[in-house]
Amino acid sequence: MTTSSFDDQYEQVRDLVRSFCKKKVRPGAAERDRSEDFPAEVLEEMGQLGLFGIFVPEELGGAGMDLATYLMIVEEVACADASIAVTISVTNSVCCWPILHFGSEEQKERYLRPLASGQVLGGFMLTEPEAGSDAASLKTRYRDAGDAYVLDGNKAWITNAGVAKTFVCMATKDPSLGAHGISAFILDADREGVIVNRPEQKMGLRSSRTAMVALDGVRVPKSALLGKEGQGFSIALATLDHSRLGIAAQALGIARAAMEEALRYARDRRQFGRPLFDHEAIAFRLAEMDTDIAAARALLNEAAQAASRPGRHSRESARAKLFASEMCNRVVASAIQIHGGYGYSKEYAIERLYRDARVTTVYEGTSEVQKIVISRTLKELAQSL
Ligand SMILES: Cc1cc2nc3c(=O)[nH]c(=O)nc-3n(C[C@H](O)[C@H](O)[C@H](O)COP(=O)(O)OP(=O)(O)OC[C@H]3O[C@@H](n4cnc5c(N)ncnc54)[C@H](O)[C@@H]3O)c2cc1C
Repeated sequence: MTTSSFDDQYEQVRDLVRSFCKKKVRPGAAERDRSEDFPAEVLEEMGQLGLFGIFVPEELGGAGMDLATYLMIVEEVACADASIAVTISVTNSVCCWPILHFGSEEQKERYLRPLASGQVLGGFMLTEPEAGSDAASLKTRYRDAGDAYVLDGNKAWITNAGVAKTFVCMATKDPSLGAHGISAFILDADREGVIVNRPEQKMGLRSSRTAMVALDGVRVPKSALLGKEGQGFSIALATLDHSRLGIAAQALGIARAAMEEALRYARDRRQFGRPLFDHEAIAFRLAEMDTDIAAARALLNEAAQAASRPGRHSRESARAKLFASEMCNRVVASAIQIHGGYGYSKEYAIERLYRDARVTTVYEGTSEVQKIVISRTLKELAQSL
């Protein structure tokens, strides 16, 4: 494809997604936040647009689009409703992506087609009650039972639990083996012994589903193993290197929405006889927010380019996720300040954006974990100087 036809396609997809979000996603976002209703109908329509199999090749029923297009879609959707953005990004980047990159031809054919069509949502089970940032210390065990593997343990904070059918799930043969004991499995949520707890009552992203999942003697066929035995932790790390870019894009989308709310409010609200915008302190705050958003976008673009080249891109992904999520929290806080007391009211969209933004510095690795990832590569660099 030539550059201009690539650009044309990118812009066509952006216009389509933006107009869909304006008509179908943004209008119900505040109500869904209040009711915590899961937006099954909107998601079904998004499935028909191909938004659940963005990377999946066309021959497997997907949209066959590239990383830049994926990040743009997540940003557009997050700008309209961050809850829907996380439902989409989890299916695409932590479920479809590892199956596409580490799955056998049979696994790709069996799982990616329904995921890409949007008929089935996906999820990722890494975190456990006692294993969050230190994911390699997970305790969910698997044992070889001849013709099957049997999984036992508890998974915490699982996005799409209760609504998704296909999960990539990490379990260990023996916790004393550390990261080397971990394997990845493709888990059908309707298997006997998969018990989804009641949904978490969250501060934000309230119309996305998150729950604890107990795995009580779950038998999965030998063909459920993703990649090789013992490869599970490196599959998880490679997946997170990739999916963190989606969280950075989600943070960008939320920040963009907050910026729009702040601009509108600063234009319309008058104090001391003039619009807020004409007070230099407010105008300068808006200028800083704008610069912050642009800087995050530049880092995300750089990381997306690194991810499109062969080799690891952990440092670039961690930098983009760290900066974009911290930036998002700065921008929503500034937008609340510009709204004054009204920013504290549920009548204004900025109140929801402020809550939705908060988790971006926490999930798919906290900001502290991103700094650990970046500083590890810096240590290697320091040794080589
Ligand atoms: C809404 C939501 C959805 C999620 N979805 C999923 C999902 O779909 N699948 C999944 O597997 N997980 C999911 N998670 C889990 C998420 O990835 C974890 O919450 C996150 O990795 C942090 O783990 P933790 O909550 O156990 O915090 P902890 O690891 O207990 O950390 C607590 C605090 O200590 C800090 N800390 C920990 N270790 C260090 C250290 N070595 N140095 C400095 N600081 C440190 C952390 O940065 C944090 O500030 C989700 C979480 C949320 C809130």
